[in-house]
Amino acid sequence: MSETIKTDVVIVGAGPTGLFTVFELGLLDIKCHLIDVLDKPGGQCAELYPEKPIYDIPGHPMVTGQGLVDNLMKQIEPFGPTFHYGDMVEALEVLGTAEAPQFKVRTSNGLSFECKVVMVAAGGGSFQPKKPPVDGIDAYEGKSVFYAVRKMEDFRDKNVMIVGGGDSALDWTLNLHKISKRLTLVHRRDEFRGAPHSVKAMRELVAGGNIDLHIGQLSSLTGADGELSAVTIKGADGEKAIPCERLIPFFGLTMKLGPIADWGLNLEENLVPVDTEKFETNVPGIFAIGDINHYPGKLKLILCGFHEGSLAAQRAHRYIYPEKRLTFQYTTSSSNLQKKLGVS
Ligand SMILES: Cc1cc2nc3c(=O)[nH]c(=O)nc-3n(C[C@H](O)[C@H](O)[C@H](O)COP(=O)(O)OP(=O)(O)OC[C@H]3O[C@@H](n4cnc5c(N)ncnc54)[C@H](O)[C@@H]3O)c2cc1C
Repeated sequence: MSETIKTDVVIVGAGPTGLFTVFELGLLDIKCHLIDVLDKPGGQCAELYPEKPIYDIPGHPMVTGQGLVDNLMKQIEPFGPTFHYGDMVEALEVLGTAEAPQFKVRTSNGLSFECKVVMVAAGGGSFQPKKPPVDGIDAYEGKSVFYAVRKMEDFRDKNVMIVGGGDSALDWTLNLHKISKRLTLVHRRDEFRGAPHSVKAMRELVAGGNIDLHIGQLSSLTGADGELSAVTIKGADGEKAIPCERLIPFFGLTMKLGPIADWGLNLEENLVPVDTEKFETNVPGIFAIGDINHYPGKLKLILCGFHEGSLAAQRAHRYIYPEKRLTFQYTTSSSNLQKKLGVS
């Protein structure tokens, strides 16, 4: 277990709401760490519709999902937030009191944080991989079966099987074939959804005998003590066992509320009820902003998450600097705020 990281605020989720809240907190001299189970910032915008145009972001007649995320990342640069990607906030423990909240936050990668405020900006919940319907797969997870590539070295000199037909499957096929002993790509049909240049590069590797391509579905796994030795594929020409020590299924992602249900927060149909003055939950010091919250009239829109983050930040200031009075200032006219933004 690593050392405890001390910070003012932990933000659970680096979707658009979590990102903009860094800005609002930064203007109030509040430091934060963001944790997201995805390997990149942007939540739904980056994961589900990076290239789709959005037309209802104030001041942007049109911006793509990824364009918005890129702009938000640029906007929060002056405040130097720390990001922890590929990690899930699992446990949240209350240490302080209602007047002086303090929390311990723990993640699945073994990180531990102590903070005065938690902003739950978890959207529809954490993105989690969809699992292939193969008996006994759980027993191999983390040792031989991986749903993301975190460390390429885990795949060096191994018989690797990648399953899927989208960009992740193709990108990792192109990358891992260079270090694996032998790479096999499996897809249920001979058509791929990934970028055309990746499909072309993959086909060239197959034609050159550098990788194997099988059209079919996973049928069963062979191995012992979490170590895979072979995977059986069922195709049009029957079943075939293929040597495999590392299996990477890319079956897409689904959103699950996950561990948030165990944090002592009131829940209404998997959403966290908040007040509309400060977007605080039933636990003082824990705020819920963006798609994860609920209140009368709630709209699951990005602009609503931005508004909620800005009001939650005002209240967070009281917990973090109880002795300081907060004066309202505009970025257009406050030289103090402009100094923080590095523009004066
Ligand atoms: C196809 C589509 C089109 C859309 N178009 C529009 C539009 O035109 N205009 C508009 O305003 N809105 C649109 N939306 C809705 C908009 O994307 C959401 O309102 C917005 O993404 C919510 O932002 P958020 O930051 O609250 O949550 P999210 O974007 O869902 O981000 C939450 C993040 O929290 C992470 N997370 C959750 N739990 C944990 C945990 N325990 N540990 C670590 N990380 C965790 C998740 O992995 C995720 O990355 C659209 C949505 C979809 C799906």
